[in-house]
Amino acid sequence: MQLKSIEIVGFKSFAEKTKIDFPTGLTGIVGPNGSGKSNIAESIRWVLGEQSAKTLRGTKMFDVIFSGSADRKSQNMASVTLTLDNADNYIQSALPEIKVARKLFRNGDSSYFLNEKECRLKDIVNLFMDSGIGQGSLSIISQGNIDAILNSTSEERRTIIESVAGIYKYKQQKMTAQKELTTTSDNLDRVNDIINELE
Ligand code: ATP
Repeated sequence: MQLKSIEIVGFKSFAEKTKIDFPTGLTGIVGPNGSGKSNIAESIRWVLGEQSAKTLRGTKMFDVIFSGSADRKSQNMASVTLTLDNADNYIQSALPEIKVARKLFRNGDSSYFLNEKECRLKDIVNLFMDSGIGQGSLSIISQGNIDAILNSTSEERRTIIESVAGIYKYKQQKMTAQKELTTTSDNLDRVNDIINELE
């Protein structure tokens, strides 16, 4: 799997449509302080479903929309599109190329897209779970992240290790199955009560 490109419009300091291509090999992004290097990393986090405004150095999610500058008025929408080459099927999917997009409007409308088709956040989270680049993954280390990892509790560290080892996905599925089992068991109790009453 390879990150091919990212297209950013109206996200943080990227007022204009900006496309960044990532050719094979290592890509370094350099620039003066405040030029938007971290905003690029954050746009990747965001398009993959980040829900915490704080993680994106904001207080509310609308803070990611370009808020204007001395010579440019603010935007009404932030949009990020990430394109991945998945020819090696690293992300288990029938798609040889994966295009993920997220849009947020100032009026509160928000949407996610998978290969240009509108989808749910859950679809994106599930697709990237255990890929190492999904929501909350450590493939993007932001400023302050290292301190947070070093100061994390043993339970938090265990979650990190489980996620890297690919166990976390199964733990999530087990929790969902257990919840369904509890609901089914409750329903069965109710049915048995009714049967007892009728007998
Ligand atoms: P450093 O090298 O100091 O870490 P950087 O290149 O990583 O800097 P960023 O932190 O990515 O820079 O960008 C910060 C810039 O983004 C600031 O100038 C800030 O005003 C701008 N910015 C952040 N959010 C928005 C927004 N919603 N609208 C407009 N500009 C924004």
